[in-house]
Amino acid sequence: MNTTRTYRITLLPGDGIGPEIMQVAVSVLQRIGQQYNLQFEFQEALIGGIAIDATGEPLPGESLAACLQSDAVLLAAIGGYKWDDLPRAQRPETGLLGLRAGLGLFANLRPATILPHLIEASSLKREVVEGVDIMVVRELTGGIYFGQPKGVFALETGEKRGVNTMAYTESEIDRIGRVAFETARKRQGRLCSVDKANVLDVSQLWRDRITALATSYSDVELSHLYVDNAAMQLVRWPRQFDTIVTGNLFGDILSDAAAMLTGSIGMLPSASLGESGPGVFEPVHGSAPDIAGQDKANPLAQVLSVAMMLRYGLDQPEAASRVEQSVLTVLDWGYRTGDIMSEAMKPVGCQEMGEVLLKALEEFN
Ligand code: NAD
Repeated sequence: MNTTRTYRITLLPGDGIGPEIMQVAVSVLQRIGQQYNLQFEFQEALIGGIAIDATGEPLPGESLAACLQSDAVLLAAIGGYKWDDLPRAQRPETGLLGLRAGLGLFANLRPATILPHLIEASSLKREVVEGVDIMVVRELTGGIYFGQPKGVFALETGEKRGVNTMAYTESEIDRIGRVAFETARKRQGRLCSVDKANVLDVSQLWRDRITALATSYSDVELSHLYVDNAAMQLVRWPRQFDTIVTGNLFGDILSDAAAMLTGSIGMLPSASLGESGPGVFEPVHGSAPDIAGQDKANPLAQVLSVAMMLRYGLDQPEAASRVEQSVLTVLDWGYRTGDIMSEAMKPVGCQEMGEVLLKALEEFN
């Protein structure tokens, strides 16, 4: 008989719909734990607006400490109208940045998968998006968002000049490159690196390092695209992509464009990973304050974040596939929350979607 693996998971439900969708995710994890002999020790911590209300800070030290001591962090969403006018240091978003910095999360993985059930939700034609399954690996802690010098400086003429610097060191490129090659390996084995090497020196270094890394991953097929062409190809023929790796700025834009191919924000998970230590797994969407507390939230992005946690954070690919399969099954059965509702489907709230997911998990016994 298999021995039980125990994982310590820090839960950060946050604000708005966060607690509702987190509840569904936890019930799925508990069930999958029974099925795969995995034991999850959950500890809940504060982040975002709820943390500001309780402690005055968006990421209290004890929350970060709890995350650092865990095997993985499952985050729901933060933010809301109530905290929108606070100074930047006390805003809920500052808690997220602190979490990324505190855990050294330099790699952001965002899948854009078209589910056959939701194809009509895409703004592109069926024949263009059918079968799309892309993973965007974005560098998260370097590039133009962090490079020095940065700021707005006065020139001698009195005119102001705004400056940001796009900079990457070889080691920063190598570590995101390795995550991307490893990710491509777990998928279809094709990696497209996106840069602007025809114009930017920093991109030429990026291209040279990624090309050099490829010799250690002979099972992965590497290609390169300039970012303008990549944007065009994403909407022209997205099926050509498997895994994409790119820097912070280009990744910010391309991951949102790729996400929109799927047309449904309530379905998109993400993972942020560091060198070692726990990763953070969370839906792409925000705290949806407009529907919070009304049992209207779609919990599926949160549940798919659980699947990413199992696959990329805890190395439990079979359990991950089962969670993903349960999402497909409830969609097959016709259950839909309001955001993905279409004619002749069965409308459910967040809680009921959780209940049918548990039934779907039983389907494979
Ligand atoms: P949002 O993603 O919260 O909501 C956008 C729209 O999508 C809303 O109409 C909302 O009802 C809907 N929506 C989002 N998730 C849904 C779900 N699971 N099920 C059904 N409908 C869903 O973005 P926003 O309105 O721009 O931001 C609201 C708050 O969330 C802000 O305070 C913002 O700063 C914060 N935010 C947080 C994160 C995060 O936690 N990572 C990300 C984005 C925005």
